[in-house]
Formats: sequence, structure tokens, C-alpha cells
Amino acid sequence: MNREDFPMMNTGYIYLDNGATTWKPKYVLDKINNYYTNYTANAHRGDYDLSLKVDSEYENARDIVKEFINANSRKEIIFTSGTTESLNIIANGFFKEILEPGDEIIISESEHASNILPWFNLAKTNGINIKYCPLDDNHYVTLNNLKKVITKNTKVISLAHITNVIGDLRPIKEITEFAHANNIFVVVDGAQSIPHIKTDVKDLDIDFLAFSGHKMCGPTGIGVLYGKLELLEHVTPQNLGGGMNESFDNVNEVYLKSLPTRLEAGTPNIEGAIGLGAAIEYLQNIGLDKISEHEKNLRKYLVSKLSEIKHIDIINEESDSGVVSFNVDGIFAQDVAVYLNKYKICVRAGSHCAKILKNEVGVKNTVRISIYFYNTKEEIDKLIELLKDKNKILNEML
Ligand code: PLP
Repeated sequence: MNREDFPMMNTGYIYLDNGATTWKPKYVLDKINNYYTNYTANAHRGDYDLSLKVDSEYENARDIVKEFINANSRKEIIFTSGTTESLNIIANGFFKEILEPGDEIIISESEHASNILPWFNLAKTNGINIKYCPLDDNHYVTLNNLKKVITKNTKVISLAHITNVIGDLRPIKEITEFAHANNIFVVVDGAQSIPHIKTDVKDLDIDFLAFSGHKMCGPTGIGVLYGKLELLEHVTPQNLGGGMNESFDNVNEVYLKSLPTRLEAGTPNIEGAIGLGAAIEYLQNIGLDKISEHEKNLRKYLVSKLSEIKHIDIINEESDSGVVSFNVDGIFAQDVAVYLNKYKICVRAGSHCAKILKNEVGVKNTVRISIYFYNTKEEIDKLIELLKDKNKILNEML
């Protein structure tokens, strides 16, 4: 679908590592190029036309994001460098100040490092306890399992909407309903979901949401922190400096600007925000429903083909997203990836930053295929042809 939009298609690679980052369409590249070619200036600084144009494009990108996730207000959209920074701001700028020793945060063992390590840090500094939601037989989080670990001390549940190794879609709406009835905040890591499925923060009643531009056809180094306005108002800026202050004097009196600028100190990633806005326009033009449908069908095809190969063990046969993790019997995951690379097929191998998931699935490393709307059946056929013959893999590994 829409393959002609992507200059990277001319390289001849088969790119199946979209969970790591996606390719960028010309539409996005042109928007970024246009900023640097035709109206380079800083944002929020100038009184001249060029800078005003930058302001207007930068703030327009915020409006695009707001509409995309159906936030209530543009003040709820903070540009960050990505999911990782967004989650760190939530942990350190909000929860660090309100959590007390003995409070509990629930995560799962299939979370990405970015949704684990900031909480580990709070455990150290604030004396809070980290608890893990037990996963079911398919390695999924269910509300019933969550209820098993929720106690009166539970203050936060922080989960990926879709995980990056198992690819399961968590029942966020059910979770927020139960959590809010019990005064528990819900943080959602949307890194692997926002690019693939329609997300409505109001309908899901999410308290905080984090996602990255580069996994959704946008540039690297830009992402979003969404928070309900009444919560974001209490987030302490982790960066202090230009742009975010109204005034200060020589006796330490600092007056900060209102949201969203208060949480965006320094020169922002202007090209990033403009590129992300363009990426969202591009995805919306195709349609998120169409994207999800294509990925679902392609996943089905991929899984059916992989399961015909006896020496392949699929870790997440029953998942909801375009992420398929597997191993080739007796062959190290990295060796499989290096073998496929010889044929210009890009897949990811390793623990995929979900380093404690091995406790649940019993294997440390896997080969991961993560598809996007521009992948095709023909690409999957080429992959399958190369994986079919185990002797060929063994011979060519040497
Ligand atoms: N969360 C999940 C589920 C991810 O898959 C990733 C990246 O792979 C991240 C968080 C971190 O995203 P970023 O590196 O863009 O900050």
C-alpha cells in the first residue's frame, strides 16, 4: 500500500523492522525540507514574518496531534524527544512528587525498558514498590490478572497499549474504568499502538500517554506527552531555561509560562514537530482503519506461512498486531537476522529492550518481524523462502 511514497523503497531492502522505526514518506521529507529551505527561523522568539510562520507551523502541528488523539485541549499536547522522554517526565515531574513510601506501581514483565527503568528509579528514590501483573497463557495482560495484584496501596498502572515483542493489545478502556474507580492513575505507553490503531484518549480515559514520531512515519527526536490538563498543570518541568519562563529576577523569583510552553524549555525540535504533524496528516489520509486492516491480514498470512515450517517456533501466534516473534530451532536469533540481511531483509533480533520478558516466555532472544502498511505478501513470501531451508541458514551462517 502506498509504496511509491517512500524513497527508501528504491534501495531494494525488504524492511520488516517497523517496530524499531518506520520509513518516511516523501510528503514528510518535503515538509521538513521546506522548513529548512524556505522559512528557517526559531519559534516563539521573533516579531518578524519568518519566525511568525515558524510559530504558526509548529503550533499547527500541535493542533494536528490534538485532533489525532482526540485530546480536549492543545495545552494537553507537549512535544518531547519521544516516548522515553515522555515517560521520564511523567515519572519524575509528576509521580515523584506525589508518591510516598509503600505506594505501588503496577507494570508487566513485557514492558519496554522505557516503561520500566523510570519506575525502578522511583522505587529507589521514593521507596515505592513495583509489582508485575501476571501474564496469561498467551503472555497477555487481563483485567482479572491486574485485579490480583492491585491493593489499596496501588497508585499507578503503567502499561504499553501494544507491546513490542508479544504485540498484544491491552484492554485499556476496561483498565482505566476499574483503575479510576479505585483512584489509580493509568499511564499508557503508545509507542507501538499510536502508529497502527485509532486512539482516542477521551474514550479510553487515559491519564498520561507517551508516543514517538519516528515509529509513525515521522522524524526521529520528536514525540508527545499527552496528559489530562488538570494533571499536566501539576507536572514540574524537568528542563528549565529559555522559552518556558515568563520572567525572573536576580533573587531567584521565576514566573513560568502556562502550558504547553512551560514544559518545552529551550529551542524546540521545530523540524520534528512539523514532520510529525505531516506524518499524522499522511497516515490520516490513508486511514488508520485501513492501515490496521492491512496489517491484520498480512500478519495472518505471515503466521500461517511461518507455522508451516517445522523448525520455526512462533512465540506470539495469537497476537493482535503486526509484531511476530519467533525462533529457528537451534539457531541463535542474531544469526538468523544476519543471514536475512545477506538478502537485504531487515528484521530485529535480541531481547528488544524487553529484558525481563524472558521470565514469562522462557526465551531471552527472538527474531522479530514488525510490519507496516507498506509491506506486502510478496515480501513475506521472500522471507519465508529463505527461512524454509534450515540447512541453507546453517551453511550460510558460517
Ligand atoms: N515503548 C515501546 C513499547 C517501544 O517499543 C519503544 C521503542 O521501541 C519505546 C517505548 C521507546 O521509544 P523511543 O525509543 O522512541 O523513545
